[in-house]
Amino acid sequence: MYDESLSARTKRLLAQYGLRPRKGLAQNFLIDHGVLDVTMEAAQITSEDIVVEVGPGLGTLTRELAARAGRVIAIELDEKLTVLLRESLASFTNLTIINQDVLETDIAELLKSSGLEGKPYKLVANLPYYITQPVLRHFLESKVKPTLILVLMQKEVAQSIIAKPDDMSILAVSIQLYGKPKIIKKVAPGAFYPPPDVTSALLKIDVFPKPAVPVEIDSFFQLVRAGFCAARKQLANSISQGLGISKEETLAILEKGGIAPERRAETMSLEEWGKLWRAREDLNVK
Ligand code: SAM
Repeated sequence: MYDESLSARTKRLLAQYGLRPRKGLAQNFLIDHGVLDVTMEAAQITSEDIVVEVGPGLGTLTRELAARAGRVIAIELDEKLTVLLRESLASFTNLTIINQDVLETDIAELLKSSGLEGKPYKLVANLPYYITQPVLRHFLESKVKPTLILVLMQKEVAQSIIAKPDDMSILAVSIQLYGKPKIIKKVAPGAFYPPPDVTSALLKIDVFPKPAVPVEIDSFFQLVRAGFCAARKQLANSISQGLGISKEETLAILEKGGIAPERRAETMSLEEWGKLWRAREDLNVK
């Protein structure tokens, strides 16, 4: 039960601090109790948990997280919101608000300076949509990855992240390498104030302890990017073009990896990319 509706709280806080939602920072505040409840249920936060939140905004998710978790570190770019958060959530002694751009925040350093070095943590956020993909990459490629990611994001992006072979993209490969993504719920624009132009989705990623296929990350993505460099082209052509290697070398890699040369990148599973990467390494084609 809530003593004040989220919509009323959101408008009250904005008025009290003389603020307006900043479109440029994708400030669409969550005002739907049902979505908040589903998010908390999916996050399964216990007092053992450390949670990193990106973009706490007016603190709607933050206070629910802080009420359940052992520690919460929330990273907010907007300085005025940081002041508001520090004042309105001052009663939570387990909460730290950092005024910084998340993409310029070294997560390993942040945890270390908070006395949480080497501890597992969860990432929970209603993400600023304009940086959804960079934020996911930032955390998944960090030295210290979260064990679980639970984020609200644009529905289409979430759908492309959970894609299966035939609809794969570089984005799907790069998330599925690190974890198992699942859409928990689609969320209508009316769940936010002001409503965004797009439908959203709550996406959960169970992050693997190590990548799904054993590869060297840089050369793996060099190969995957090459495969996707020309939309709907056969792999024999796109890989040759993307890596700048001969057709013969490309065919040799494909044959060793057990992939038919006329296949297209969209049809490839993660395991098949792993085999192709292994084949290129074994043949030492650079
Ligand atoms: N968590 C709040 C909620 O659910 O109501 C607000 C979510 S709102 C979609 C996104 C938040 O991210 C805003 O508070 C915005 O100021 C913040 N933000 C935008 N860009 C950011 C960045 N680069 N680093 C950290 N926070 C950012």
